[in-house]
Amino acid sequence: MKYISTRDCSIQVDSAQAIAQGISKDGGLFVPQTIPQFTSQELQSMLSMNYQQRACVVLGKYLTDFSEQEIAESVQAAYSTGFDSSDVVPIVEISPKEQIMELWHGPSCAFKDVALQLLPQLLTRAVQKTQGASKSAILVATSGDTGKGALEGFAGVENTEIIVFYPAGGVSRVQYLQMATQVGDNVGVYAIEGNFDDTQTAVKKIFTDPVLNQLLAEDDIQFSSANSINWGRLVPQIVYYTHAYLELVNKGTITMGEKVNVCVPTGNFGNILAAYYAKQMGVPLGRFICASNQNNVLSDFIQTGRYDRHRDFVMTTSPSMDIVISSNLERLLFLLSGQNDTLVRQWMSELGDQGYYQVTPEVFEKLQQEFFGSFCDEENTQQTVARVYQAQNYLCDTHTAVALDVYRQYREFSLDETKTLVACTASPYKFSDSILGALNPNARPVDEFDCIHQLEELTGVPVPKQILELKGQPIRFSKEYPQEEMAQLVKTQLGIKE
Ligand SMILES: *Cc1c(COP(=O)(O)O)cnc(C)c1O
Repeated sequence: MKYISTRDCSIQVDSAQAIAQGISKDGGLFVPQTIPQFTSQELQSMLSMNYQQRACVVLGKYLTDFSEQEIAESVQAAYSTGFDSSDVVPIVEISPKEQIMELWHGPSCAFKDVALQLLPQLLTRAVQKTQGASKSAILVATSGDTGKGALEGFAGVENTEIIVFYPAGGVSRVQYLQMATQVGDNVGVYAIEGNFDDTQTAVKKIFTDPVLNQLLAEDDIQFSSANSINWGRLVPQIVYYTHAYLELVNKGTITMGEKVNVCVPTGNFGNILAAYYAKQMGVPLGRFICASNQNNVLSDFIQTGRYDRHRDFVMTTSPSMDIVISSNLERLLFLLSGQNDTLVRQWMSELGDQGYYQVTPEVFEKLQQEFFGSFCDEENTQQTVARVYQAQNYLCDTHTAVALDVYRQYREFSLDETKTLVACTASPYKFSDSILGALNPNARPVDEFDCIHQLEELTGVPVPKQILELKGQPIRFSKEYPQEEMAQLVKTQLGIKE
C-alpha cells in the first residue's frame, strides 16, 4: 500500500518511508492512498484476540512493507511490559451510556504512551528498510505529555538519540519531574526560556537547517520526528478504537454491528482522527464528539466550517489541549474532500497567509454529519471533575472532564442515546492540584507529593506507581537555556564537532 501527501497526491512512498520521514517534503502529511477494510468475519474472529493480536491485524493492513514478524516483534516490545493493565487499554463503565476507555496505563500516565511505546520499534525498522543513516536523532518540542512519552519510548533504543525541549516553567510539576529525572544514556532534556510556541518554532528551524543537516549527514545521522504528524503515531491509535469496540461486544454491552459514538478531548486532532479511520475501516462507530477546552478553535470549526487561528491562546488546567493550530485536521480535510489535494493545499496556504480558511459547502455538510463539536470552560471543567466523582464515583483528570462535559452537552442537544466511548487521556494524578482543588477547595497542600497524597486519602484511588516513584529520584536535567543555544545543545548531545 502506498502513502500519499495530503498536498500532492503524486508524491507516493511506502509506509516505512512515510514513518522514517515523518512529514512529506511539500509540507503535507502522509496518508494511506486507500483505507483498508475489515470484513465482518474478520471483526468476528478478532473477538477472541487479545490487545497485541488485534494490534498485529490492524498494523498488518497499513504497514504492508513490514513483515508479519517485524510487526509482531514491534507489538510485543511495545505492549508486553510497561503498561500497568493486562488489557493495555481497559474499559470502565460509569453509566450505561458512558464507557470510559482508559488510555493512560503506560509509563508516562498519558494516552501518548500507547503510540509512543510502539513508534520507536516501527521507526528503527523503517530507517533500516529505507537505508537511512545509521543513527537517528529524534527532536521533540513538548508542552508536557509528549516529552515523557517519547523519552520512555526511545530511552535505550539502539542507534537513537532522543532530544526533548520544553518551555521552562510551562509544564506541570509532575511533568517536570518525569522529564528531569529521565534515565538513559541516549536522552537529553532541555528547559528553554520562552513559551511553547517559541520552542516549537525553534525546533522546526533546527529540523530544516541545511547546515546542521549537512553536519549530521557527515556523521551518518538523520533527524526524525516523534510528533503526532508522523503516521507511525496514528496507526497505533486506530488499534485501540477497534479493541474497545470488540471489548464492548465481549462484555455484552453492545451486540456486534451496533453503532457506538466516540467522544474525545481534542488538541492536535490525532486521537479523534484515529477513531474516524477505524470507522472508515468498518468498525461500527457512529458520531464523533470533539471536545475542546477554552482554546475552542476546533469546535468553532465544526460548527461553522471556518478555521480561524486569530484568537488568544489561553492557558488552561487541561494544558495538553492548549493549541491553536491543530495539525492532524489536515488529514480529515483530505478525506472529507474526496482526496482533493488542490483544495487542501489551498486551505493550508490560506491558513498560513491570512490566518483562516472556509471549507466548501459539500465538505461542511459531511463534517456536520460525522462530527459534533463543543467546548468546556475552566469553571465547568472543575465542576465536572467534582460532579463525576460525587455522582458516578469516578475520578477523572481535567482533559477527560472536558470530554465528559461536552458529551453531556451533546446528549442534551441531540437527544441521541447511543452508547458512547469516552477517551480518558491522563491519570488524574498528573494534574493533582487541579483535581484536589475541584474536590476540596479548602485543601492547602504544601507541595506536589503532599497534594498527591491528600488526593489519595480523599478518594482512595491508588496513585500509579510511575508517579510515586518520581519522589526522591535524582534530578538529571534542570538547567534552563536561551533559545539561541538550542542548535548547539543538539550538536553537543550528538557529539558533532565542526
Ligand atoms: C495530547 C493529549 C490530548 C490531545 O490529543 P490530540 O491527539 O492532540 O487531539 C488530550 N489529553 C491529553 C492528556 C493529552 O496528553
